[in-house]
Amino acid sequence: MKETKQFKTETKRLLDMMINSIYTHKEIFLRELISNASDAIDKRHYLSLTNSDIASAEYKILVEADKEARTLTITDNGVGMTKEELEEHLGTIAKSGSKEFMEAVASENTPDVDIIGQFGVGFYSAFMVAENVTVLTKSVKDGKSYLFTSEGLESYTIEESTKDDYGSVITLSLRNNTDDINYDEYMDEYKIKELVKKYSDYVRYPILTWVTKYDDNQEYDKDKEPVTHLELDTINSMLPIWKKNKSEITDEELNNFYKSKFMDFQDPITSIHINVEGMLTYSSLLFIPKKPFYDFYSDRNERGLQLYTKGVFILDKCKDLIPEYLRFVKGLVDSADLPLNISREMLQEDRAIKKIATNVEKKILGELSRMLKNDREKFEEFFKDYGINLKYGLYENYGEKKEQLKDLIILESFNQDKKITFAEYKEAMAEGQKAIYYAAGKDKQNVEKLPQMAMLKSKGYDVLILSDDVDEFMIQVLKSYEEIEFKSINAGDLDLIDEEESKKLDEIKEAKKDLLENVKAALTDVKDVIISKRLVDAACCLSCDGEISFEMERVLKQQNRDVKANRILELNPNHPVFNKLEEAYDNNKELGDKYSKILYAQALLMEGILPDDAEELSKDIFELIIK
Ligand code: ADP
Repeated sequence: MKETKQFKTETKRLLDMMINSIYTHKEIFLRELISNASDAIDKRHYLSLTNSDIASAEYKILVEADKEARTLTITDNGVGMTKEELEEHLGTIAKSGSKEFMEAVASENTPDVDIIGQFGVGFYSAFMVAENVTVLTKSVKDGKSYLFTSEGLESYTIEESTKDDYGSVITLSLRNNTDDINYDEYMDEYKIKELVKKYSDYVRYPILTWVTKYDDNQEYDKDKEPVTHLELDTINSMLPIWKKNKSEITDEELNNFYKSKFMDFQDPITSIHINVEGMLTYSSLLFIPKKPFYDFYSDRNERGLQLYTKGVFILDKCKDLIPEYLRFVKGLVDSADLPLNISREMLQEDRAIKKIATNVEKKILGELSRMLKNDREKFEEFFKDYGINLKYGLYENYGEKKEQLKDLIILESFNQDKKITFAEYKEAMAEGQKAIYYAAGKDKQNVEKLPQMAMLKSKGYDVLILSDDVDEFMIQVLKSYEEIEFKSINAGDLDLIDEEESKKLDEIKEAKKDLLENVKAALTDVKDVIISKRLVDAACCLSCDGEISFEMERVLKQQNRDVKANRILELNPNHPVFNKLEEAYDNNKELGDKYSKILYAQALLMEGILPDDAEELSKDIFELIIK
């Protein structure tokens, strides 16, 4: 029975977009269909190894053109599709990526269509060049054959059919040529060869097409056309690139492999090729994409490397091969030491996998260290997009990894106007400087305005600017770098003034005890009010003690955690405001309290914290202005 179904609205929109919005790179449809064919063969082969009811075959992918019928056919002997699979995979867009793809295409900065494959909508790219697509398929799962026929962009039919071999035959009825676009070329032998070489050379199964060959034993005659015939010939090189010796592969080959395998249109920032033989035998190819993939920040993004065993594809995203903080790395591992029927649960416990994962992580960190040392510009570019992941890595790890990671962090420097490592900070430390100072803030301008900065600037001490949410948490778990303590410019004793001056300020503190207590009594949420040892010309500032800083308070509040940093109001006894405050308390306690509140509000604002009682505060200020 033939069933006719409408494409879902979302699918229609997508198809429409494929045809009308995307003019360039239509040729990638072939890569997408070959890649689906190769995946289908992978799946069949895997089933045949783990299920005795399913036979393997001499795997191949056929690309055939019929110029008279104006069709292009891609045939595979892979798993095929059941009726349900046809409906689910080709009739609807099951993958959530389709929506994002459409948004990306519709947005102003239209992405290169080369990334189509990333969105799981590869099959539909056929409609870029075809008016209609049919899929004749026989599934190894139930042995039944079905024919899927698209009726333009509106609907499709599915009916039972007959087919000898397992697998799928995808037939594209090419569009008619237009003034701008020549669709005929996709039936051209040389074009097919060119596209397969360009996009699908490393597909591990033979891709065959009809190739013109000269008949044997012809005498050369310049007046006569040579006699030729057509032969089915393999046109891809097939050998998995990771199986080759490192010295045999050029960077360009690696880049091309990466681009076709992971559907990126840019070369990766760096590639790592590992070949290990011995107790454990495996190869790995790892890539850091130039830019994070479109779904990198989405919750749905799963980390993982592709896993092969002895060249057989096992798993698309094996998360046990790569730690969370390196999830931006794309790549694959081909191990000779794993059974084919290994389950996800078993992988987690597998010792070979654990060892490989440790080694993979080490290699990546090693490569990043090398990049930082030898190609600073490239590393900084890398860090812009992925640095935050390393920071999380540092926050979450301990031991040897932490040691390696801490030297891969670069932070904005106040003095040097660029990002520097902790080692570089240490190197540039001033005579007598005892700590690594840092301040939380959006950028240099922001930090420069903090009242506490004046003293550090006068000493020439550099300050690291922490602008990512994770930064201060990371610094807190680090505590020190090569025995030099980290110090926030607004917490604890900064060690910035000499003993004599410090003693003088202690004496003032003693002498002005009553005043400080009065101020403290006027303010409900301060832990203490003290004479400051970190101010030069500002009247007051806020500092904190304890585990939580103001920045951490802000970050944790965003996560709905109810925490509060201890607030300490610091006063500058050398500022005229200090005397006014004292005078006020001497004559009129109510006025003194008002001054205290205003000073405190100032200190809060400078830290970027809004005072709780803004209304009462503005009333007080108006009153004082009118007076
Ligand atoms: P993706 O390949 O990214 O999942 P596609 O739109 O290209 O997205 O394909 C959708 C699904 O249709 C595939 O995941 C696969 O299950 C199925 N499919 C496509 N082509 C074939 C084929 N030649 N043989 C078997 N299944 C296929």
